[in-house]
Order: sequence, then structure tokens, then C-alpha cells
Amino acid sequence: MSAYIAAHLDPDIALMVGGHHAKAMPDGVLADPRMASLQALVLGEGELRVAALLEDAQRRRELPGVLWRDRLLGTRATGIPTDPKLTARLLGPDINALPYVNRAFLPQDPYQAAPTETDRRLAMSRGTSLLKAAARSGHMEANIVGSRGCPYNCTFCGAAVSANPDVKIRVRDPENIIGELDHLHDEYGVSAFRFVDDLFLGVGRVIEEQMAAFTRHRIGERYVWDATGRINVLDRVSDSELDRLVANGLREVALGIESGSDRILSAMDKRIDAEMTERVAHRLVKHGIGVKGYFILGFPGESHDDITATVRHIHNLWDIADHNPGDIRASVFEFRPYPGTPVWQTLTDAGHDPDALLAYADVDLTEDGADESMRQRDEFNFSVGIQFGDVPLSKVRSALATLTREQHERNQATRRTTA
Ligand code: SF4
Repeated sequence: MSAYIAAHLDPDIALMVGGHHAKAMPDGVLADPRMASLQALVLGEGELRVAALLEDAQRRRELPGVLWRDRLLGTRATGIPTDPKLTARLLGPDINALPYVNRAFLPQDPYQAAPTETDRRLAMSRGTSLLKAAARSGHMEANIVGSRGCPYNCTFCGAAVSANPDVKIRVRDPENIIGELDHLHDEYGVSAFRFVDDLFLGVGRVIEEQMAAFTRHRIGERYVWDATGRINVLDRVSDSELDRLVANGLREVALGIESGSDRILSAMDKRIDAEMTERVAHRLVKHGIGVKGYFILGFPGESHDDITATVRHIHNLWDIADHNPGDIRASVFEFRPYPGTPVWQTLTDAGHDPDALLAYADVDLTEDGADESMRQRDEFNFSVGIQFGDVPLSKVRSALATLTREQHERNQATRRTTA
């Protein structure tokens, strides 16, 4: 899609690209004839270098991690920085010194969210006037990033540490984060925040430091928030620390559960097992914290038994939610290999053609009866059409569609109860 857009731009418009794919396959992007007007490919965290390039495109010659195609030689050209200190700052900006995201350029953020089952359950279990109002009419919500980088190495993930040796893991100072929460509240009336970091609740010490500041600023009396978390880390968090997360407004944790098969979890290098996931999910929902679980079907080497284990795992988790104050939502995706990830390397080493691994195409799952439930996630329903495990793709998709439909029915049942 990016290449298509690039090819159709007015040739007088200079083009700059970045992001995961550009970082993982820069030479492929530079050599693509559709990218003829590409002036700069920015590797990694681009804020400061993009700002410099917008002021003066000629600065690409002196900026680190900026590439372009030498027209005459047809080869990769790269900026040559001279000051090592400046280079370090440009490649890994001080995230406490960056200005808050200017939402004037983001028409979809903040946004008015419809009330969810999690909001309804929160209103019942915590009962504050903010939550009761949100259960009726939803929150004004905004996305926010509190940290950068992830220390784990899940083999399918673009954020895996081995795929990002250039990224220094950093967390914003709690005061800086809280400043942005208050700014979004004052400016737009936002009362719910989603930390969309690779991993926000990923290190015990960081959770402690952030929560101490949230308590000092009485965040839980004013806002609710969702965050990404790690199952093995939350498994070690004490009940009193979970109480503190609740008191500070934690609404829902997004967890990479991925599979109900320990064999597949180990192949993914997840460092969790299905029993640990059910234990952690149980403790979270018992405290009234919602769980959003992400699952992958069709992983390399996956057997029928592994898929059956995942389906059973999801049903176990729904059962747990049915007996506790917090809700559990399941979001299931078909496996796709991304360039730069450990599993991409494994697959190409095993003889898979990189072009075939990149041949994304839309998938129509509506035959399996999940049409309405799929509407919210069109952008995720794409596939490279290759069977990586033992199970034919038609069966993988059928399991995916069934689980998605079941989740959708659970959401609908809630809406009817709320109405
Ligand atoms: S899946 Fe999550 S924990 Fe694993 S590498 Fe990616 S961001 Fe980190």
C-alpha cells in the first residue's frame, strides 16, 4: 500500500519513509522503482531527524541512520555524522524532553468511545460517579506512549529485542506522563487512556515507580487507563500491588497470551505457560481488572492438538471471567511473518522465499459467519496465504472466525444487558 501511494504521488512531492518495514528491509525499499521520489529513509526513532530534514533536506548528508538511493550509482547512500554525542541523541531522543503529541493532527485521537462490558463491570465493582457515567455513555479516550522498547524476544514480534539492537529501553518519568494525562483532560476532556507501548507494565520496578506517582497525584480518582503487560511479570506482582493498580485506575491489561499450547509458547519464546496465564488472568479479573488477550493461530509447527488447546484455553478464560468482576476479551489473529523478526529468519533459513512471505492479501472470513464481528478489524484480516503449521489454512481461519464470532456474541449480550 505504501509503495502504491508512493508511485502515485505528484513527482514534485518529496517522500520520506520510516517504520518497521523500512527498518527491516531498507535496501528492498530503496530499490523499489515505485519509490523513485524517496528522499530519505529514516531508520528507528525518527522525531529529531525528521524535524531536521523538514527544515533542510540537504541535512540528510550529515544525519545518522538516514538512507537514500544514489541515482547515478544505483546504490544505497547514507548520511555521515561527525559528532558521536549528537548522533546518540538523534538516534535515541530523550523521551522526557520531547513535546507532547500534537493531537491537532490526529482526527481520530482523542475519540469518544462507546461503553464496553469492562466499563459496565468497573462501574459495578468500583462504583465511582466517573465510572457510573462512563458505563452509560463511555469515556473520551486517548492513546499514549509511556515507554519505548521491549526486553523480550518473542519470535514473531517486530518489537523483539533482537530485531531492535538500536533501541535503548526507556520509560518516561511518571511526572512527564501525568503531565500529558492532565493536559489531555484539560484540553479535550479525556478521562480514559490507553498505554499503547510495546510493553508498559513489563518490569516490576517500573510498575512500582509509576504507581507511587499515580497515587501521589490521585490518578485513580480522576481517570481510568489500560496498558500492555507481561504475564510472567504480573505473575510475580503481589495482591497488594494489584490493589494499588486498581486504586490508581487500571481498567484493562492487554496481554500477549498467543496460545494454549505450551509447546507453541516455547517455540515462540514467550516465557509463559498456559497454566500461568490462567492463574494471572484469574487474579486480575478477581481484582476487577479487565484482560484483553491476543492470540495467534497458524504458527509454524502448530498441530491440530495445539489449536484445540488454544480454543480450550480461551473458553477457560471466558469461564473465569464469568465468575469474577473483571471481563476477558479474546482477539485472535492468523500468523504472519514480519521481516526483521526471529521467526522470519528461521523461515527464510528453511527455504521460504521472502517475496512470498510478503505477499499480503485480504482474507474474507465472512463465509464462517463472522461478518459483523470482523468489521472492527478489517486492517488485521490479511494473510500471506501460506500454511506454516500442520493445519490447513481453511481450518485455521474457521477456528479464528468461530472464536471471533463467540467473542462478538459475548459483547452483544453485554450490550443487551446494559440497555
Ligand atoms: S510480544 Fe510483547 S513482550 Fe514479546 S517481544 Fe513483542 S512487545 Fe515484547
